[in-house]
Amino acid sequence: MFITKSVPRPTAKFACAAPVASLGAMKKTDIDEVFRRLAKNNPAPQTELTYDNPFTLLVAVVLSAQATDVGVNKATPALFKAANTPEKMARLGEAKIRNFIKTIGLFNAKAKNVAALSRLLIDRHNGIVPEDREALEALPGVGRKTANVVMNEAFGHPTIAVDTHIFRVSNRTGLAPGKTPLAVEAALEKVVPETWKLHAHHWLLLHGRYICKARVPDCPACQIAEFCTFKGKTTVEGGAPRKPATTKLRRTKKVVTKKKPKKKAAAKKPANGRKRPR
Ligand code: SF4
Repeated sequence: MFITKSVPRPTAKFACAAPVASLGAMKKTDIDEVFRRLAKNNPAPQTELTYDNPFTLLVAVVLSAQATDVGVNKATPALFKAANTPEKMARLGEAKIRNFIKTIGLFNAKAKNVAALSRLLIDRHNGIVPEDREALEALPGVGRKTANVVMNEAFGHPTIAVDTHIFRVSNRTGLAPGKTPLAVEAALEKVVPETWKLHAHHWLLLHGRYICKARVPDCPACQIAEFCTFKGKTTVEGGAPRKPATTKLRRTKKVVTKKKPKKKAAAKKPANGRKRPR
C-alpha cells in the first residue's frame, strides 16, 4: 500500500519565502492585545476551504498541501458531489479521484492518498474521521499540520497548525520565533493566551495571507504594527522597506542624469597648411 507521511519540514518555502529578520521577541504583555485586535473584525474565523463534514474537510486539507485554497475549492465541489463519505470515495477509486483533482498540484500522489485514507477510515474507524491526532497522522497524506487543522476546525480543539503564513508571521513579528514549523508551534503553544488559542491558527493565517504578505508586508494597514518587531516594515503599500530608526517617509526623487556636452569637433587644418583665422 502506498503511504506518505507529510511531516512538516523546514523546506525552502518555509525558510526563505521572505525576509523574517526581527528585532527580538514580542513583549509578553503585548501578545494579549495583538490577539484582541486580530479578533476584533473576525471574532469566529473559519477555514477558507469548502467542506461539509469532517471527512470532506480532511480531504480538502490533504489536497491543499502546496496548493492554494482557491485552487482546491474549484475542484472539490464536483468531487464531493460524487463522494462525500469514505465509502463513496473508496468506491470512486483512485483513477476517478485523479480526474476530479487534476487541476491541483501533485494530483497523482494526492489521488492515491485520498483513495487509501478512505479505505483506512473504513477498515480502522468504521468510516468515521477519528478525533485523535495519532490516528489522524497514521492516515496516508496526513501530517501534523493537517491533523492540527482537522482537530481544530472539525472538533474544536485549540491546536495551532503552522503553515507557511503562520511560520512567517510568528518569526517576523517576534511572536513565536523558531527555525522549524514544529519549533514555532511549540513556541505558540507557550505564548498564546488560552482565551485566544482556539482561533489563533486562523487569525495568524489570515493575517499572513492578506496583510503580512510574504514578499511585501502591508505594514501601513496592519493593526498590530506597533507590537511587531520586524526590522523591515514598509511605509506605504508596495513601497520600499524602511530602514530601522527611519521615521520620515522619503519621497523617491527622479534621478536626472545630465548629458555631457558634446566635444567640439577639432578644427580642421586648411588644406594649404596655414592656420585658420580666428
Ligand atoms: S507590521 Fe508589517 S511585518 Fe509586522 S505584522 Fe504587520 S504587516 Fe507584518
